[in-house]
Amino acid sequence: MLKGKIALVTGSTSGIGLAMARAFAEKGANVVLNGSRSPDEIELARVGIERDFSVKALYLAADMSVPAQIAQMMAEAERVFGSVDVLVNNAGIQHVEPIESFPVEKWDAIIAVNLSSAFHTIRAAAPGMKARGWGRIINTASAHALVASPFKSAYVAAKHGLAGLTKTAALEFARDGITVNAIAPGYVWTPLVERQIPDTMAARNLTRDQVVNDVLLEAQPTKEFVTPEQVAALAVFLASDEAKSITGAVLSIDGGWTAH
Ligand code: NAD
Repeated sequence: MLKGKIALVTGSTSGIGLAMARAFAEKGANVVLNGSRSPDEIELARVGIERDFSVKALYLAADMSVPAQIAQMMAEAERVFGSVDVLVNNAGIQHVEPIESFPVEKWDAIIAVNLSSAFHTIRAAAPGMKARGWGRIINTASAHALVASPFKSAYVAAKHGLAGLTKTAALEFARDGITVNAIAPGYVWTPLVERQIPDTMAARNLTRDQVVNDVLLEAQPTKEFVTPEQVAALAVFLASDEAKSITGAVLSIDGGWTAH
């Protein structure tokens, strides 16, 4: 389905991004990985994709909070593979703290990585996609692109912003064969969620079990975590030709969270 196409997924060294990169590779795309982790773990993930799916996988280490590095990554991907056909803006970070004590540098970093990086990648990828008359841009938003939770001011603001950027880009590229959509997952069991448990315990004065059951899954009527593979399957569908009329959408995959 994606044979001969190039899929670049930011933040794809773990969690949802890695599951997406593997899912695109399974459909025949060559993939560009990005994100941080130990060099050994990254190489293991990269080689695993090449071995399992007989495609090429390239790793580019750009920091999504640095616009010049983002531009360099996009140029390098196009230089090596000739195009970026599927762009997934997935890199994301979180910080949980009340607004009054929320560190300013954390606010800046979250806005940079979770929102501004998508602006930088999209403006770099769009000319090539337009020239080829085909492109798929998929932004990993969140249920927090649609609703808020306390103590996540920067994350909620960035994800709402990402939904706005998604809609704007969809309108601008509507006649160019390029679709732009956001996926809005509820709680997915990944390192990002695991890492915020201690901060949420502190912010709300709760035990670990209380955070998992009463805070995280409290929002999710199914009482089950979404899996990275389920999110990846939605991304693969959005990249398909059958999904060409879906653009400007923010698609929930949240176990009913935003039905509340
Ligand atoms: P994760 O921590 O497993 O993955 C995040 C990825 O982003 C990693 O590869 C990490 O290296 C990368 N990253 C972080 N900062 C970066 C930077 N400055 N430059 C480049 N890469 C960077 O977390 P995840 O849960 O898989 O999150 C992936 C995306 O899904 C994020 O945008 C997150 O907001 C979103 N999301 C996650 C959940 C969830 O419950 N896990 C829910 C909704 C949305």
